[in-house]
Amino acid sequence: MTQERNIQKRTKCLIIGSGPAGYTAAIYAARANLNPILYSGLQPGGQLTITTDVENFPGYPNGVLGPQMMKDLEEQARRMGTDLQWGSVTKVDFSKRPFLAEIDEDYWVEADSVIISTGASARWLGLPSEQRLSGFGVSACAVCDGFFFKDKEVAIVGAGDTAAEEALYLSKICKKVHMFVRRDEMRASKIMQDRVFKTENIDIYWNTEVEEVLGENKVEAVRIINNQTKKNQEIDLSALFIAIGHDPNSKIFEGQIDLDEEGYIITKPNSTETNIPGVFASGDVQDKIYRQAVTAAGTGCMAALEAERYLATVEVEGLKV
Ligand code: NDP
Repeated sequence: MTQERNIQKRTKCLIIGSGPAGYTAAIYAARANLNPILYSGLQPGGQLTITTDVENFPGYPNGVLGPQMMKDLEEQARRMGTDLQWGSVTKVDFSKRPFLAEIDEDYWVEADSVIISTGASARWLGLPSEQRLSGFGVSACAVCDGFFFKDKEVAIVGAGDTAAEEALYLSKICKKVHMFVRRDEMRASKIMQDRVFKTENIDIYWNTEVEEVLGENKVEAVRIINNQTKKNQEIDLSALFIAIGHDPNSKIFEGQIDLDEEGYIITKPNSTETNIPGVFASGDVQDKIYRQAVTAAGTGCMAALEAERYLATVEVEGLKV
């Protein structure tokens, strides 16, 4: 049965998501006169709004607070003429043109091109103390925050390639890295495991889980448990890095575009094109390797340029492109 859709807007370029990828796509699309509409999603500003200082984004010699950087990007996107909307895309239909996106389960937007920049969400352990100290020593990004714990003792949870890579990164900056692995083996590739094993200042704790992050206003210690012996131990440290994987925010695109087995949107090599011409993906929703603000911004730029090129080559009914 065909349901009547309440279509309220039409745009040449719909941008879904408001992290560095989405805002950069918006800046470029607006400057190309595509009059983009950007829907910010449930966490306007994305993952950077839950970090503190960002010191590795070019152009900020003294660093910048993550939330401030996202405000700056938002302002820049608005000043260029982006129609910024505080809503979430709850459904899409890419089977026909114009493409359709449902907003807040309420109304629909028609779009001649779509840029998906919905990002990814770090997985957390789910401890209240972890959430309370997030940004105060608990972090899901060693490359972003490791430097703040130079010469200190830190810990990392996880045993995949990300955890191995981040443990190695931290080992070069920090005095000691305690690595908590919940099983008696690591999931990371052999080569990464070997590198971890050979690094003197990484201590691996097998069959170990974090029970509690301790500290009032900043991380001071963790209480761990050996899940075989059930023995507890407290370790003094300054930071706890969680590296237990990310989930791309791609649920609403299932069945609409090609995703890989982990849910990341598949884009063509050296491009942001998906399998549907006119639908592009940028940022962490299609990147499980780099996951940096600057790489997300870079692919946001690519997506806008590719959308512009796409729109120039198609005839769009009812719109002069
Ligand atoms: P993975 O899903 O590969 O690994 C997650 C790790 O976290 C696993 O060791 C898992 O343990 C552990 N874990 C999950 N939940 C918990 C929990 N609640 N408590 C403790 N530990 C937990 O994620 P990654 O981010 O490491 O990697 C994702 C993908 O990206 C992989 O395919 C990886 O190969 C790839 N990648 C590639 C890189 C590269 O090529 N340079 C760099 C980084 C990632 P368990 O094993 O017990 O399930």
